[in-house]
Amino acid sequence: MNIGICLDRNDFMYDIHSLVKSFFPDDEVHIYTKDDPVRQACRRDLVLNVEIPEYTDRKNAKDSLKRDLYKQLSDFTEKQLPWGTLSGIRPTKIPMKMLSDGCSREEILRHLQDDYFVSPERAELALSVAENEKEILRRIPLSEDSWSLYIHVPFCPSICLYCTFSSSPISTWARRADEYIETVIREMQRKKTALLKDSGSIAPTTVYIGGGTPTSLSEEQLDRLLTAVRHVWDLSGCLEYTVEAGRPDSLTEEKLAVLMRHGVTRISVNPQTMNDETLERIGRKHTSADVLRAFYMAREAGFDNINMDMILGLPGEDARHVSRTLGILEELKPDSLTVHSLAIKRASALRKAIREDRETDINADYGNFGGLIFENSEELMDMAAGTAAAMGMRPYYLYRQKNMRGNLENTGFSVPGRECLYNILIMEELQSIYAFGAGASTKYVYPDGRIERTVSPKDVKTYLERQRDISAEKSAEEERTDGPDC
Ligand code: SF4
Repeated sequence: MNIGICLDRNDFMYDIHSLVKSFFPDDEVHIYTKDDPVRQACRRDLVLNVEIPEYTDRKNAKDSLKRDLYKQLSDFTEKQLPWGTLSGIRPTKIPMKMLSDGCSREEILRHLQDDYFVSPERAELALSVAENEKEILRRIPLSEDSWSLYIHVPFCPSICLYCTFSSSPISTWARRADEYIETVIREMQRKKTALLKDSGSIAPTTVYIGGGTPTSLSEEQLDRLLTAVRHVWDLSGCLEYTVEAGRPDSLTEEKLAVLMRHGVTRISVNPQTMNDETLERIGRKHTSADVLRAFYMAREAGFDNINMDMILGLPGEDARHVSRTLGILEELKPDSLTVHSLAIKRASALRKAIREDRETDINADYGNFGGLIFENSEELMDMAAGTAAAMGMRPYYLYRQKNMRGNLENTGFSVPGRECLYNILIMEELQSIYAFGAGASTKYVYPDGRIERTVSPKDVKTYLERQRDISAEKSAEEERTDGPDC
């Protein structure tokens, strides 16, 4: 369908677009004002006229406008959205704030359901996550100059169909991976020099090496990187040291020994699904047997904090497939489980493949790929939550993304004490994150609550060139300042 939303003036366009898109995820939605004759003249299957009232309180006006629009769209589609009118990435923000204000559970649940039309199950989930998150945060000592370290390793064994992270096949970069590591190390050393100059702390609260798949690096390269992390930074007070080992096809006993030797406390081994047909379909060049092998190998190596990720809504997967994956994971008993709803992002190969399918078959829609339906539902999410609960886990972090199948969420479950602190810190924006590597995003959180971000070039080649230029400038500067006094 081609849907037009005609506003009487240019305001709240983004909020309205995301709400309408939530009802019509597979359709084209155009928002325009009534004084835009060109877009008004386009042929549409459905046009809604929206009047924006005058307001003094912008937030109240936005909430009320979204409620009215939600009712109209819900009547028209006969659909209810699990998260109601909430379209932001952090629905837990509301219960977090209300808990801090001393509101009761009942008040919070009522507010989410009555004012935002959140389903009772999602309201309960958001509140439980907020309660657990608050309790975990009490365990993390935070000060004005505390920060966490992130290193991005943008290489993977192969690229998954749905991926939009900044990652390339390791085979393409094998000959420059050493150069990449040395560049990241130099970038960290420069930051350390700057911190010491400003009397800042060089002791991160947590360390997270992500990607990509850092364990795509060779054993020697991993060793070089992790040795440097220990030499550059003071890890004496570090509460958690995570390395993503997501792709089982990247793990060996030797690499696990390297991680262990350098004090890594938490890793992830991610199946996404335990169905081999789906794994092949989504471009992961490993089998479910490889997941089992990697998981047991990691346990054998001594890792007592292993996360596993799974995705709901993968092409061709229904409740039977999800139940099979959950059954196997329950037997493995990881320490945490992250349940994602498939998000079909613009830049992904999946989106492109679906578009091509659509062009060749006028009956196909975005929920159809190669003749396979893929959808996520509250029922599937609840199945996963049930398995997590059976493994003694509780939900502790949650976020939403655009274009998620079923309009649902990503939830992190964990047995108490094995939660990923870094995930909570980054979500709550309570401290700075100093990030290194291509596509890494550094976030400065200032004492007055201000937040600033800087992002390195995503493209590895551009990142290496940029860092080389910075190094050359610094050396020239040092030569000037170190020159003889005349
Ligand atoms: S493992 Fe993760 S980062 Fe690597 S290609 Fe797959 S989705 Fe992307």
